[in-house]
Amino acid sequence: MTALDLVEHQITARLPRLGEATTTVDVPLVIRIDPLTGRSSRLMTESRLPPAPRPDLSELTADPPFCPFCAPTVETATGTIDPAISDEGRIRRGRAVVVPNVVPYSQYPSVALYDTERHFIDLPDLTPDLVTDLLESLVAYTRGVAGIRPMWHSINANFLPPSGSSVIHPHAQSSHDDIGTSVQRDLVARSGQWSGTSYWERLVDTEEKGHRWIGRVGRVAFLTPWAPVGFHEVWGVVEGCPDLVDLSQDDCRDLGTGLSAVLRAYHALDLTSFNWALTGGGPSPSDRYSVLLRVISRSSAVPMYRSDATYFERLHGEAVIDQTPEEIASAVRPHFPG
Ligand SMILES: [Zn+2]
Repeated sequence: MTALDLVEHQITARLPRLGEATTTVDVPLVIRIDPLTGRSSRLMTESRLPPAPRPDLSELTADPPFCPFCAPTVETATGTIDPAISDEGRIRRGRAVVVPNVVPYSQYPSVALYDTERHFIDLPDLTPDLVTDLLESLVAYTRGVAGIRPMWHSINANFLPPSGSSVIHPHAQSSHDDIGTSVQRDLVARSGQWSGTSYWERLVDTEEKGHRWIGRVGRVAFLTPWAPVGFHEVWGVVEGCPDLVDLSQDDCRDLGTGLSAVLRAYHALDLTSFNWALTGGGPSPSDRYSVLLRVISRSSAVPMYRSDATYFERLHGEAVIDQTPEEIASAVRPHFPG
């Protein structure tokens, strides 16, 4: 199989040296192009952001007087799922529970808790079992929604306020409607238009055992993307799986194992906050698309933190990253099984 054509532009900026304004130095900038979407990312590897020590989260994450997601409040503070989706009321798998969301992020929004017994669970304690049960419970919900009619499905997570989360209790959310999101529609459309072998098969074939390769868990290939959209970005490609409704129990276990390993690696890097998204192939899934997990870190959860989303990310759709995907892969790889 022919390897993907991975394009990057190497630019040099002639700039005054920091703290020594009369000296001019050449500073490299690498701009990489995502082979599927054509989107560009800027790797500014000689201008690292200062490393932040891991903050004390105890005050932020202390048990509050009231939390709708802590047991036993969850039974009274949350609603039950529409019987058209599930006759389980609240879907439980292991310690995980799915309930309807109260915010209309999509037509059939849900929230799932990893564990109602603990108000806060830090990154190393989001174990493979907890993440697997969460994914299984949300896939069960997704299958229920898909029974109404074919739709766009995604399962997503914020963690701590810098990621956008308004709730400290660790949770994930799922979205289901006829429209999908901009990125989801674009990924699926471009995957469908890709000529020859499936883009995702070709991506994994290109990256396997290379500098951006992290490892394989079951049929899930974990790697860092050539042109990231976020810091410490890791992908899991579920090869041969066109939609979330096609995720088997083994797939949930493999995704849960890999995602838990990524979060352990984030903790080792002193990170605290993250987002992840697991996206399906839309109402007419085909073997041209493979279910994709994307995980990124966010600014650390400290008061008055510097946001990692500047005008570049929000208004230009362009990430500016201070570590290469190759460096991230080598930092994450030791946390993976095998
Ligand atoms: Zn709670």
